[in-house]
Amino acid sequence: MSEERPVSKYALPHIKSLHAYTPGFQPKGDGWIKINTNENPYPPSPAVEEAIRGALDDSLRLYPDPLSWGAREEAARLHDVSVESVIMGNGSDDVLNLLVRAFSTYDRAAGYAFPSYSLYPVLCGIHNSRTVEVPFDRSMSLPVDGIVRSDARILFFTSPNAPTGVGFDNDSLRELLKRFEGLVVVDEAYADFAKENAIELLGEFSNLVVTRTLSKSYALAGLRLGYALAHPEVIEALDRVRDSYNVNRLSQVGAIAALQDQSYMQAIVGKIKRTRDFYYGEFENLGWFTYKSEANMLFTEPTNSSGERGPEVAASLFEYLKERKILVRYFPGHALTERFLRISVGDEDQMLKLSETIGQWLKNG
Ligand code: PMP
Repeated sequence: MSEERPVSKYALPHIKSLHAYTPGFQPKGDGWIKINTNENPYPPSPAVEEAIRGALDDSLRLYPDPLSWGAREEAARLHDVSVESVIMGNGSDDVLNLLVRAFSTYDRAAGYAFPSYSLYPVLCGIHNSRTVEVPFDRSMSLPVDGIVRSDARILFFTSPNAPTGVGFDNDSLRELLKRFEGLVVVDEAYADFAKENAIELLGEFSNLVVTRTLSKSYALAGLRLGYALAHPEVIEALDRVRDSYNVNRLSQVGAIAALQDQSYMQAIVGKIKRTRDFYYGEFENLGWFTYKSEANMLFTEPTNSSGERGPEVAASLFEYLKERKILVRYFPGHALTERFLRISVGDEDQMLKLSETIGQWLKNG
């Protein structure tokens, strides 16, 4: 008699009121131009497929290495840090979840910059952590004073930021790390597309955590592999709270192969950066304000053929594109995002189709 015993009766109050994360739309069927979730338009390194095929044997009977040690060693080598400074996760989402689990509760607030990755407050909601939102202003420079004034004990922000693509330099990060007393988690999901990254600061600051993913620059969103780099004591705390076998056998093998093939990753990242910079110019030529991006996305404020801009204009272009099977991302309901569309940088054909369709919208509208 489910009416008498609704499941929601048993859920904890903070779970009942939780607003679950909404991932970008994953369409069914063919023919979509999917530039809505910052995936890589190019295939992963052939070395990854080869390594995974090579691991498809009777060893799948066995649990994977609980520590993902081989993958940790590879990441440590790549970033020139000690292996004790690395932990692997089932995507960087897993690592972010571990950070909230280990370092935040109701009494120890977690802060996050807004707008940035909308998963941060959801993870805090799951763990019943108190949250402090620190807003950017339209310039999108790092709100260091606001962060330092907050009572957060752990802070999350994305660098380069999502959805804007704006990168932050290490001087402002250094200032933040000096002035903020808690842990600073710099989510570098998009750092391979940027000029600078925070890894060189790891030796200087024990309150810095850098998270990385293989989902974007390595074109491996389906493999689910992310990692964190931090002081060994921070890593030790994360190891205490992770699932015993949080990275499966095939993902570990694939991750090692991907991390070893830096030249392939750099080649596809180079192509994406060239396409990104070209379309930044195209949007500017249309008179659309666009943040200068250091990631694989462009956050642009469309203007219609009558020269109008605003939430209705952005929403109308979003719908127009969707009806023509081009998926981009729209974040309504907040002044800093509702006038913009976030367009993940696709391959040249996808971007050409996008540009032609925008041309039709401008002509018809
Ligand atoms: N951080 C940011 C800023 C992201 O945009 C994403 C994914 N969209 C992630 C982390 C999660 O990546 P992963 O696939 O490694 O879980």
